[in-house]
Formats: sequence, C-alpha cells, structure tokens
Amino acid sequence: MGKFFKLKIENENVSGAINRLLKSLLEKGMVKSILAPKVSANGTSVLYALVSAPSETESIDILAPVMPLNAASLLSDVTRLARPLPEGEDAETEPVPIAAVLRPCEWRASVELTKLKQINLNGTIIFTSDCYGALPAKTYTDERRQGVESKQAYDKVRSGDFDEEMRSACLVCEHPTVSSSDVIICFMGSDLSGELVLEANTEKGEKILGELGLESVSSFEAHEKTVVEVTEKREEAKKKMFQDVAENVAGLDNLLSLLANCVNCHNCMRACPICYCKECFFDSATFEAEPGKYLSRAQKKGALRMPSDTLLFHLGRLNHMSSSCVGCGSCEEACPNGVELLKVFKTVGNEVQKVFEYVPGRAFDEELPLATFREDELEPR
Ligand code: SF4
Ligand code: SF4
Ligand code: SF4
Repeated sequence: MGKFFKLKIENENVSGAINRLLKSLLEKGMVKSILAPKVSANGTSVLYALVSAPSETESIDILAPVMPLNAASLLSDVTRLARPLPEGEDAETEPVPIAAVLRPCEWRASVELTKLKQINLNGTIIFTSDCYGALPAKTYTDERRQGVESKQAYDKVRSGDFDEEMRSACLVCEHPTVSSSDVIICFMGSDLSGELVLEANTEKGEKILGELGLESVSSFEAHEKTVVEVTEKREEAKKKMFQDVAENVAGLDNLLSLLANCVNCHNCMRACPICYCKECFFDSATFEAEPGKYLSRAQKKGALRMPSDTLLFHLGRLNHMSSSCVGCGSCEEACPNGVELLKVFKTVGNEVQKVFEYVPGRAFDEELPLATFREDELEPR
C-alpha cells in the first residue's frame, strides 16, 4: 500500500480540482506535456490530447465515462521516440518528462506494451483513475448532445443507473483499479463533495504529490472496501458471462455464428492496444486468392461467404495476443457490425492466462508467457 494525499475539491467541482493539479505540473515544469482525456473540439465527446500549455488543462475531463480508444497505444506513440537514438544521429538522450492519466485497462495494456518494448516509461509519471466503467462512445455522445454533463453521466455510471447502456467489457471488468502506477486517483471511497484522495505508489509519485503541496493522510480504508465491493459485483457478472459462453458459444458452429456478421475490416485489430505490429500478417497479400479459387470454392460449397477467411483472422489474433489481453473491450467497441468479440477474447484470454498463471498488466517482473518457459506448464491438468 502506498501513501495517501488529499486533494481539496471546491464547490463540488471534481474536474476543476484535478485539472488544477495537472496545470501545476506543467506550470512548475515538473512535466513538459500531459497525455489526458480532453473534451473534443465540438464538445460532444472526450478524446485524448497531449497537453503542453497550462491553459489547455481546463478542458481535460477525466470523469467522463467514455473511452473511445485504449490510450496505451498513444502512450507508445509518445514514448517510444524518447529512447536514445543510435549513435551519430541527433540523439536526445534525456527523455522529455511527460505525465499520463489512464484508466486501469489502459495502464494494464501499457504494462504489457512496456514488456514488449513498445513503451518507454523513463521520464514518465503515470496517474491512473479508479474506474466504474464507460459507456459506448456513441451513447456518451448522444447523452452530451442532450445536455448531460460528464459529472452527471459519471454519477449515473457510478450508481449503476447506466448498467444497461454500459460497455459489456466494463460490466465484467475485475480490475477497477491498479496498484502499480505512480499515483492512483482514488475515486472509489472518496467523498467527492469535499476532497479526493490520491495514493502515491512509487517514490516518484510521492515526490511529485509532496512537491505539489498536497497534505498527506495516514490511512484511507474506504478505498479498498469500495474496490472490493465493485470487484465482487464484476466477478459475479464475469462468471455469468463465462457460463453463457460455455453454453452458447463453445464449439465451431457457435463460434462461426457469433462471428457471422464480420466483414473482415480489421478495425478490431487496429483498436486493440496489444496488437502492436506495424505490418500485420493478416493485412498481407497472403490471403488474396486468385479469382478462380473463389469461384471453385463457391461451386464446391454451394455458396462462399464473402469476404472469406474471417474465422482464420480471429483465430490468428486469439493465438497472437490472448496471453496479454486485458479485456478492455476496445475491439468490440470498434466493430461496425456489433460482433460480440469481448465474450470470445475475454474467455479465451482467461483460459490461456490461467494455464500460465499470468495476469496481464499486473506487475513488471512477471515475464510474458511467450517470452519464458516452465517445464511443467503444458503438462495435462
Ligand atoms: S474495461 Fe475496466 S478499466 Fe477499462 S473502461 Fe471498462 S471498467 Fe474501466
Ligand atoms: S483483444 Fe479486445 S479486449 Fe483484449 S486487449 Fe485487445 S482490444 Fe482489449
Ligand atoms: S471489427 Fe468487426 S467486422 Fe471488422 S474485422 Fe473485427 S469483428 Fe470483423
């Protein structure tokens, strides 16, 4: 457990308090930029921005219950280049200090990408916020268009009033908080009418909060209590989902039926933070058949589903990344045809991770299952 600090909230303006803290980070030169969710240009959604000017922190909105993409990929974009360049090139050896504010599933994906050498955390300070869940991006935009403020939407998600509308991944997400980021924004357990508690988990986090002048608190038991309550509710929902999958999705015919509306657009792959390859085998010409082959396959089968080979694409993706799948649901949210990918990826991910006793994104010193080998790991059980 880390050290706790109090952030004062004035006039019940939670976002205002957080944004003042982030603004101070920039004003005091502690970081050069902050990667954070920010109200979009037309005001109807919240997207990530790399904020460098203190005045721009005013429209940062970490309360908004929406996650249009998993920001681990963005953290990769802005930190990979902070690595020292090869000798002889205009080397910038000191990484530019940046902060990022992430949801638990974004941080867990970031841990995986760090292990995969796609994120360089040198010089970063990572804030994670406890997460009650997010709405599909379109639902959130519709709410905003009807005049619903982000705090109102947040309160509805927190109270369960939005459970019907919530992203399916969030309803079964058993990691509403994390313990390995520098600072946790403890929404869970905090009384948001007066103060928000922040937990510093690392020396870096403690130093930053101390330098920002936050008052420390000796303990904060309400956090763990609320986290346990939320986790138990999610674990229960997850168990039901696994049961449903076992009864209705297991077997090739059921799987084909679940994937029946896939048009092979690969949006799910592009939205997945763990699918990081710049050139994907499934985008290559390997799968382009001669026209005659399509015709002969159609004649043989009576009808050939077009585009073909969609099952192979999904099996390939499951094979490549199920050990690191963090269950964020970005794949499902990116699908234009409503394919229920989360069910498949969460279930297969769970089974694979169980075999390797691996929890993606939990700790840096747990090696990636595919990067290490234990003699007994594939013995029948
Ligand atoms: S998957 Fe979990 S961490 Fe991610 S947005 Fe949903 S509830 Fe939050
Ligand atoms: S497969 Fe889907 S749920 Fe798993 S990490 Fe990728 S986007 Fe998230
Ligand atoms: S996003 Fe949907 S339609 Fe596109 S490839 Fe993935 S599952 Fe298929």
